[in-house]
Amino acid sequence: MDDGKGRLPQFRVTLNARCGRACFFCRPSGEAIATAAGAELAVDDLIRTASAVRAHGVDGIKLTGGDPALYGPLEEAVGRLRTEAGFTSIELISRHPLIGDRAKGLAELGVTVFNMSVDTLDPELHHEICGVDDLPEVLHALGQCVATGVPTKVNTVVMSGVNDAELPGLVEYCEDLGVRTLKFLDVIKDLDGGTESFARRLAIRRGSTLPDLYLPLAELTARFRARASREETRSQGGLGHPMTVLVLGSGMELVVKDSTAGAWYGDICGGCPLYPCHDALMALRLTADLRLQFCLLREDISIPLADGLSDGTLEELVAGALGEYAGASFRTPTPRLEVLKS
Ligand code: SF4
Repeated sequence: MDDGKGRLPQFRVTLNARCGRACFFCRPSGEAIATAAGAELAVDDLIRTASAVRAHGVDGIKLTGGDPALYGPLEEAVGRLRTEAGFTSIELISRHPLIGDRAKGLAELGVTVFNMSVDTLDPELHHEICGVDDLPEVLHALGQCVATGVPTKVNTVVMSGVNDAELPGLVEYCEDLGVRTLKFLDVIKDLDGGTESFARRLAIRRGSTLPDLYLPLAELTARFRARASREETRSQGGLGHPMTVLVLGSGMELVVKDSTAGAWYGDICGGCPLYPCHDALMALRLTADLRLQFCLLREDISIPLADGLSDGTLEELVAGALGEYAGASFRTPTPRLEVLKS
């Protein structure tokens, strides 16, 4: 058990509220709690809030959505996050083909990592998983991100009986393309616990539930370990899940985010009916409708910022939110997950 004293979360921003896809393992507002479809952050509000977070020593920001590729003022936002707010690490997370044509300019403005999601190399399966028939365009955009020279990650959600059989092929594809990091993530099996969910779509297409797609990743990790020249454990930010990093012979990192490795919980989790949830405390998120969100599932404890931006209390609200993470404690294994596995 780690006392977690003084730890800071990742800072993640959902720039807008929809991505135009409906992936099995996700939900309409993505990693944000339920957000109205047209919501979009004003760049000035983003910069002011991000600067308040930056003042606490958080030097990295992850831009997500929705999808940043569909956010008009993305270039202005990235440039100002770099020059005005002073972020030294700006990761852009997308799964939309439109990010490809913007990648070169965004790299010049200060994006330090491109992160694209690819769950399969099978066009039909891609269409089934996300509801959009555009895998060649997504892969073309991925190539455009790699071509900028900025380190490019690929995220793959491993789904039992859906894409687990083709993971070796995906590893090979990413190595050949020059992807820097391929990350396998396990399905967040309680992500349908809020008011929004794509569970109905999954039920119609596959007759499955989100927990049905969950695959423990230990065996998968062991399979790729044989190809690794080096192995380490890495956590992103002060509250990141411990992840296994396998450096393959090609130099590409294969990162495995396996929830059974443990997660962080804090005082805010006390009495939570969802405790111990899958993703736990990992990131402070700014939503497209100007709320601070503590975790993936609790919609009732977010902090509205609109008044704080106008009445001068923004910094106080941000400090209070970050304080909720400072004393978080690490626990492993996550008991409810153990129950579900048994
Ligand atoms: S992280 Fe959120 S949902 Fe999970 S136990 Fe804590 S308060 Fe509840």
